[in-house]
Amino acid sequence: MSHAPTYRWPNGNAVAVSLSFDFDGETPFLWRTRDINRSVIGEMEQRRFGPRVGIYRILDVLKQWHIKATFFVPGLIAERYPEAVEAIVRDQHEIGLHGYVHERVDEIDDGTLDWTIAAAKQKLEDITGRPVCGYRSPSWEMTPAVFAALKRHGLTYDSSLMGYDHPYWMEGVPEVPVQWLLDDAIFYRYVGGGQANPPQRPSHVYRLWEEEYTGLRAYGGLFLLTMHPWISGRASRIAALERLIRRIRSHHDVWWATCQEVADYHSTHYVSQFHETASERLWGGPHG
Ligand SMILES: [Zn+2]
Repeated sequence: MSHAPTYRWPNGNAVAVSLSFDFDGETPFLWRTRDINRSVIGEMEQRRFGPRVGIYRILDVLKQWHIKATFFVPGLIAERYPEAVEAIVRDQHEIGLHGYVHERVDEIDDGTLDWTIAAAKQKLEDITGRPVCGYRSPSWEMTPAVFAALKRHGLTYDSSLMGYDHPYWMEGVPEVPVQWLLDDAIFYRYVGGGQANPPQRPSHVYRLWEEEYTGLRAYGGLFLLTMHPWISGRASRIAALERLIRRIRSHHDVWWATCQEVADYHSTHYVSQFHETASERLWGGPHG
């Protein structure tokens, strides 16, 4: 079995590594319970650990390793915790959109969708003082209408889909792909209430992520981690993240980039037509 790289990264690097954080806090809970009596505070408090504590631990780790990451921030989080978003900006990380109250895009109409993008963009740009370019949909669901809205609002990339494990084009927009294996929530998220599966050990998650990183090196893929401060900000999980960073840093043929840098690289070096050719090769077409 050959391991011909399916994607070429700058300066001959074998793989691209990007760390992303969906700064949800309590917003998914607020969206999920919007129509019911919300006089409970258990899960709210669990989630507020993110903007209160988790975010600062993460920023410390990133600073220590001189890594620039991407934070996708719901508008309401910027409204409620401006000091946390200011801390992200102060450390020169990228900020991207992630709904206003973490609205699932398949549960809102086009008018509401437009509002969530415009309002969140304004709120974040008031803090960052520069244009916000990236979008990650809440819960990673997408519709063609969302891509149309991204273009209307001048956003330049999306990071919500899994069609490849390197950047690709979707509806005329660069896609910086995520994947469930590289999401902390499926391993760690636990909110009680009779949930059957206990959270997994950080050392096990480290191994899974390290194996996927090693695999992606052979294919020239994008290793894009998605973490949540309320989940990954817990002590033993922060330690596992540091261990993973240390492991990847032992290699010198890695392109560390923010999601925006990955998207910009793709736009510049892979025009749509070129990508079609690459797809045919992947599928054993005329170029395979
Ligand atoms: Zn989210």
